Amino acid sequence: MPEAWEKPYRDLLARVREARLLSSCMSLLEWDERTYMPHNGAAHRAEQLGLLAGMVHQKGTDPRIGELLDRSEEALRGMSADAAEVACVREVRRAYDRSRKLPQELVEEIARTRTLAESAWAGARAKSDFPAFRPWLEKIVGLKRREAEILAAGGDLYDALLDDYEPGETSAGLITLFAALRDELVPLVAAIQGSGRRPDTALLQRDFPVDRQERFGRAAAAAIGFDFQAGRLDVTTHPFCDRVGPGDTRITTRFDARLFGMALFGILHEAGHGLYEQGLPGEHFGSPLGSYVSMGIHESQSRLWENLVGRSEGFWRHFYPQAQATFPESLTGVSPADFFFAINDCRPSFIRVEADEATYNLHIIVRFELERALIAGELAPADVPGAWNERFRKYLWLTPPDDAHGCLQDVHWSCGLLGYFPTYTLGNLYASQLFERARKDLPNLQDGFARGEFGALKEWLGRNVYRHGARYRAVELVERVTGQPRSHRALMEHLRGKFGPLFGIR
Ligand code: ZN
Repeated sequence: MPEAWEKPYRDLLARVREARLLSSCMSLLEWDERTYMPHNGAAHRAEQLGLLAGMVHQKGTDPRIGELLDRSEEALRGMSADAAEVACVREVRRAYDRSRKLPQELVEEIARTRTLAESAWAGARAKSDFPAFRPWLEKIVGLKRREAEILAAGGDLYDALLDDYEPGETSAGLITLFAALRDELVPLVAAIQGSGRRPDTALLQRDFPVDRQERFGRAAAAAIGFDFQAGRLDVTTHPFCDRVGPGDTRITTRFDARLFGMALFGILHEAGHGLYEQGLPGEHFGSPLGSYVSMGIHESQSRLWENLVGRSEGFWRHFYPQAQATFPESLTGVSPADFFFAINDCRPSFIRVEADEATYNLHIIVRFELERALIAGELAPADVPGAWNERFRKYLWLTPPDDAHGCLQDVHWSCGLLGYFPTYTLGNLYASQLFERARKDLPNLQDGFARGEFGALKEWLGRNVYRHGARYRAVELVERVTGQPRSHRALMEHLRGKFGPLFGIR
């Protein structure tokens, strides 16, 4: 005999799964749009995606889901809050209430404006012309403030937007966390700057033929466990990872024939996202139990493989001889120590996506402070360039030469992603906490890396992170796995442990 809660719960999941199936068709079309679609196909693709987006929204906000949610909640009453079914219903409820609150008309206007604003942004960035982008930024900020007002219902506006990417997160929590991080990070970066030591990064800017970079990158992705029978690697301008569904996770990268690292670390980053998607329980596809926790946890998985593994000594004890054999004309005679220092440089720079492990987080703090002020109505979009440069000087001691190297560099605000930036630094913090725990549970991890063995770490992540889906919220998951509260400590210890010896500081 099935239990009383099973019927409404199963019906609820069947409906939610259908909406997810439909949205996975959008994923495939979007992947194609950003990889192989011919240029002239854009207008028709926008129509296809618009139609599907409307259908997904309709399916996801069907009042029948609301009824099944009510019945499931009723039927599950009394079950432990920890139970997988209860967690699952909690997350479906969250997404449902959120979509139901937003008027169709606002959703559509944001979707239309994003497409136009993103293309205006691309043109403005190319010419470093902030005034050309300003009206679009004003429009987007206005629309997102409206969205936040509806969702927040009197609460904090920024929190309402943040919640979409990082369920349960609050500005108050982030302000404390980021301030603690900033207070230790700024002096560390200053000490590195003052050390007088500099790696020779020119050795990474030699000839690295693209076909060989691709071969090397594929081998590295396969070595860390990315399953090419259940995934692909393709080329794009702005790399991403997209899961079409169980058995089909697609990652992308870009190449520069005169630069070692951009493609490889990009592939390791996206493969980290891909391992997470490939490791989610396929039988729960469409349900929160088969979904990722939050953007911060997703990013922790990419950062873990890109930085904590991919820039570690053990990794390069295994891969450096192969890199030298693959690129003899550029790496012969370059010592492993010089190479390792070059890929672990640390210095303030203008562009976030090119920033090192340490200063990257200062870029995020600048954006977090500005977007909070924008949403609160304390900063006018017209004043963004000045406010940006002022904060950049304060935290990174640099003045951007123009807005293309400053407030126009990221696509996020143009496409309405306000509240998203903090998830990058959360990813770095969570990655360090998880990796610290993994090192305790799996001694000799670096020796394994040096032998090209990464399976133990992947298995550990599968057991501790992937298999739970979105059963636990980010902060809870990290605390359960590590036994420690969420904090900046593990990241700072990692950064001091790595940069201290390299730059000769204590
Ligand atoms: Zn990422």
